[in-house]
Amino acid sequence: MINQYSGIAPRGDLLLIQKLCEQLRGKSFLHVNSTREGGGVAEILQRMIPLLKQFGIDAQWNVMEGDSRFFDITKKIHNALQGRRENITEHMWDYYYEVNSNNARTMNLQAHAVFIHDPQPAPFIEFREQRAKSKKNIWIWRCHIDIANPIAKVWMNIKKYIERYNAAIISVAKFSKALPIDEYIITPSIDPLSEKNRDVTNKEINEVVEKFNIPRDKPIILQVSRFDKFKDPIGVINTYQIVKKYNDCRLILAGSLAADDPEGKIILEEVLNYAGNDPDVHILLLPPDSHREINVLQRIADVILQKSLREGFGLTVSEAMWKEKPVIGGAVGGIPLQIVHGVTGFIVYSIEGAAFRIRQFLNNPDMIKRMGQHGKEYVRNNFLITRQIRDYLSVWYIIENKGKSVMEL
Ligand code: UDP
Repeated sequence: MINQYSGIAPRGDLLLIQKLCEQLRGKSFLHVNSTREGGGVAEILQRMIPLLKQFGIDAQWNVMEGDSRFFDITKKIHNALQGRRENITEHMWDYYYEVNSNNARTMNLQAHAVFIHDPQPAPFIEFREQRAKSKKNIWIWRCHIDIANPIAKVWMNIKKYIERYNAAIISVAKFSKALPIDEYIITPSIDPLSEKNRDVTNKEINEVVEKFNIPRDKPIILQVSRFDKFKDPIGVINTYQIVKKYNDCRLILAGSLAADDPEGKIILEEVLNYAGNDPDVHILLLPPDSHREINVLQRIADVILQKSLREGFGLTVSEAMWKEKPVIGGAVGGIPLQIVHGVTGFIVYSIEGAAFRIRQFLNNPDMIKRMGQHGKEYVRNNFLITRQIRDYLSVWYIIENKGKSVMEL
């Protein structure tokens, strides 16, 4: 129940959730995305759906199905929306639509509010009237990726679907687009009570350290990310190599492969080759449900990196800050919203900049501690799941009551 967050999450958020749930109790809230595990969207839905149910909302989560051809195409679309040139042929667009059509025709889409996450299932909106009982239902496109500078042609192909939703939700103001529908900015969030973020015992820490064979003899630099070019794993290794010339340390690059991300294996190979056989570099390929392991890695690290070149939000930043770790992150997507430069960590623009900031931390343990503590409070006030649930329910309530005067509510 909501009480479990008392004393952890801001009280105002809990009160608002309670009030909104009184208004929306028993109503159905469906989420559709393209993977049950791997990546930030699945991470949030895994926690949010059971919580919403506990709060009295009839929440459901459906995952669309596709074969490797479909996910190769949607990865290209994803990359192009984040600004990378990709060759997407007419046949590919047709297949994208066909798989969406097959999914939307067979999936139960009856719900008072339907949130369609990211571009993979965006064309579901075409089937709204066929599949939903009432036109009063609310359909929202929830975008988690960085669409600030997309390849124009690809955006136009997706935009024609987005325009038909009631509203769009983006994570960062600069991702907003000229759309004829309402746009809301809602940042993602972490659950402080999840396996990924809860407090852990020393025994659990020792178990994980032994399992991965990580000696705790020198400072640890960590980045946790899917193996993806936009997360810049090679840049992270280069950064470590500069730091290593001056400060002895270890680097852990921990990541998994997501079901809807076919490029991961290639990038992992590249990273393994690039890292060579340096005994102080640990490249860990983790199963997608390694929440406790990641929790421990984030806790044993001294400094955490998120050196992304493109980023939707970057949940790993808040996860690290919740564990009182300073974070050094690239100036992209939602990372600058989370890192208050010079207060909870540093924003960097280059490999050299990242190496400089890591060295600054390693040479100033007091600064690690101080910024780490600030980071935890910053996350508490801004990036906990209770705030995101509050925001989702608010948007739903506002759209459902559009046109009514305040006195009628
Ligand atoms: N994550 C994980 N295992 C991994 C790599 C990442 O569980 O090997 C989690 C990570 O802890 C975070 C999420 O996946 O909760 C990644 O979200 P983020 O927003 O940082 O990036 P995305 O993968 O969505 O681009």
